[in-house]
This record gives sequence, structure tokens and C-alpha cells, in this order.
Amino acid sequence: MLEDKVAIITGGTRGIGFATAKKFLENGAKVVIFGTKVQSVNEAVEKLKTLNNKYDVIGFYPNLTCESEIKNIFEEIEKKYGKIDILVNNAGISSKTKIEEYTEEEYDQISNLNIKAVFTCSKLVIPYLKKTKGVILNTSSMVSIYGQTAGVMYPASKFAVNGITKSLSRELAPYGIRVNAIAPGIIETDMVKNLPKEIIEPLIKTIPLGRIGTPEDIANGFLFLASDLASYVTGEILSIDGAARS
Ligand code: NAD
Repeated sequence: MLEDKVAIITGGTRGIGFATAKKFLENGAKVVIFGTKVQSVNEAVEKLKTLNNKYDVIGFYPNLTCESEIKNIFEEIEKKYGKIDILVNNAGISSKTKIEEYTEEEYDQISNLNIKAVFTCSKLVIPYLKKTKGVILNTSSMVSIYGQTAGVMYPASKFAVNGITKSLSRELAPYGIRVNAIAPGIIETDMVKNLPKEIIEPLIKTIPLGRIGTPEDIANGFLFLASDLASYVTGEILSIDGAARS
């Protein structure tokens, strides 16, 4: 479904980003993953290549809010692969802090990664996507619909991601660039996997489909949205949450 497409995935070293990298590679894409550390990036690249030694995957560990770093890396990717077709803005951090306990540092950390990085990477990739009529995909969250009971900056940042998605879909439509997001529910990444039974079981009872989502559930959504099957879909926030939002 993505034969010869060139895709960049931020936060691609584990969880949803890693599953998306794997799914895109299985579907013929060349994949560039971004992570935070040289070691985790190298390990993720090696893990993917072990699955299939024909997979074309490389990695970088840029500061996602530094324009000059991202600009240089995008240039390097175009030099290597000749183009960029897909950007998945997936890296993000969550928060459970009560508002009165927020520090300025935590506020900045969340808004920098969850909002500014999405803005910066999207801004800098546009010249490339104009040439390929490419796609921007963002990872939002089900909390971008109803909020949550603590950690206000996490849902606030994901409301912003939805706003960026909807606005850019309109601004970039004249260039044939599509912009969509997925709002995952509770997904079984490392954090959720390690929760005790007493917490997991009541949590599952709140999900109408009766199970926690997998990173692959989200990767399947990204595959669809990245592919030509979604050629008339833009500005959409796709909930993949087993109806947990309600
Ligand atoms: P994860 O913690 O397993 O992975 C996060 C990824 O982001 C890692 O690859 C990490 O390297 C990268 N990252 C973290 N801090 C970074 C930084 N400062 N700079 C650059 N990269 C950084 O998380 P995940 O659950 O796979 O989350 C991925 C996305 O999905 C996030 O945007 C998150 O908000 C969203 N999400 C997750 C869930 C869930 O239940 N897991 C639900 C809704 C939304």
C-alpha cells in the first residue's frame, strides 16, 4: 500500500511509532525513525532490520523543536531517498499532574514536544510534500475530546494537535497535501503493560469493545490514512479507541 513511499516517523523507537514503522515497512515504504537517543534509535533500526533484512530503515535523534537541526535532516533524507512523502508526528509525552502542582518546566516540556515539535516538523516538511502531494499524520488522543481529570496540559496539547490538523488540512489542500490525525484510546505500550491487574481490569470494563488497544490497531489506521485509499480524507481526527471515548 505504500510501495516506494518515503516516511518519517517521530517517536519511532517504541510503542505506537515503532508499530507504525513496522507496518509501513511491511507495506513497501522506506522509513526514517526519529527518537531521543542514539542507542534506542540504533536498537529500533536493528530490530526492524532483523524482521526483514530488505527493509530500508534509518534513524536520527534530533531535537524536534530545533528548526536548523530538522532542516538539515530533512535535506539529508531528500538527498538519500530523492523525496519525502509522509510525516507522522507521533512523539509525545503525557501528564497526570494536578494543576496546582505544575511547574513551568513541565508545562514547557509538554507544550514543546506535543505542540511545538508538531508545528516545527510540519512547517519544515511542507516544501518536500508540495513536490510529492504528500501526507502529514498526527498522533492525538481520546482525551482531546473530553479532557481528563488531571494533567491538564496533556489534553490541552492534544486539542492543539487537532487544531493544527484541521487548520493545516485546509491551508495545504490546494497543494494536494492531506493532513489527518488519529485519537487513540488506551493502548498497550510499555507503560500500560506494566500496570497491575487491579488497575487494568476495571479499566478494561470502561471500554465497550472489552479490550485495550494494541499499537498495531493504531498503525493500521495510519497505514490507511497514509495510503491512496484515503485520497479524499483530510482534516479528520480518527478515533481508534474501542468506543472508550463515550
Ligand atoms: P511511548 O512512550 O512508548 O513512545 C514515545 C516516543 O516518543 C518514543 O519513541 C520516544 O523516543 C519519543 N519521545 C519521547 N520524548 C521525546 C522527546 N523529548 N523528543 C523526541 N522524541 C521523544 O509512547 P506511545 O504510547 O507509543 O505514544 C506515542 C504517541 O501516542 C504520543 O503522542 C502519545 O501522546 C499518543 N497516545 C498514546 C496513548 C497510549 O495509551 N499509549 C493513547 C493516546 C495517545
